[in-house]
Amino acid sequence: MIDDIITINTGTNTITEKILPYNILDLKSSILKRIIPEYTGSLPNSNITNIAARLKMTMKLFGGVGLSANQCGISERLFVIGADDFYLTCINPKIIASDNTKVKQKEGCLSAPGIFINIARSPWVDIEYLDLSGKINSIKLTGITARIFQHELEHLDGKSFLEYAGPVAIKLAEKKKDLLYKKIIRRKKVADKQH
Ligand SMILES: [Zn+2]
Repeated sequence: MIDDIITINTGTNTITEKILPYNILDLKSSILKRIIPEYTGSLPNSNITNIAARLKMTMKLFGGVGLSANQCGISERLFVIGADDFYLTCINPKIIASDNTKVKQKEGCLSAPGIFINIARSPWVDIEYLDLSGKINSIKLTGITARIFQHELEHLDGKSFLEYAGPVAIKLAEKKKDLLYKKIIRRKKVADKQH
């Protein structure tokens, strides 16, 4: 289910408003190629809370497990990660320590739909971030969550996951994506005929 209502407590009053999903930008967008500066404003902040809620909603809508603000054209150093009942909003996220032994796994990106690339990443990371209330959180992430955190942090640093792949691997992944799309369209045409 998508939460499309947000309640923001501004301190003096409570605002309830309907939120809309963001448009997700392509990896070629300039905002995804530059380092997003640290957030230096106060927290909690209704604008940041709103951005985080819209990011989470957009991520769920497109079936992703991580989405950074700059993927939606917003120059704020934060992202949301998670699925099911586990979500984190990370403002000014940092990696404090990580494992040098890397593990390879296929990875996708909402800014490059249909493209999956094998990337070697640390299997765990000790991280630090500010939550929406402004509290500093220091935790250890492992497995897929650690991978997503590393992927999203790179978005905030202007790096694309395609940088890990050679031109041949990217071409192959794009070919696979085209085949997949053709298959989906064919299936849709068959389904439409049956109705
Ligand atoms: Zn991504």
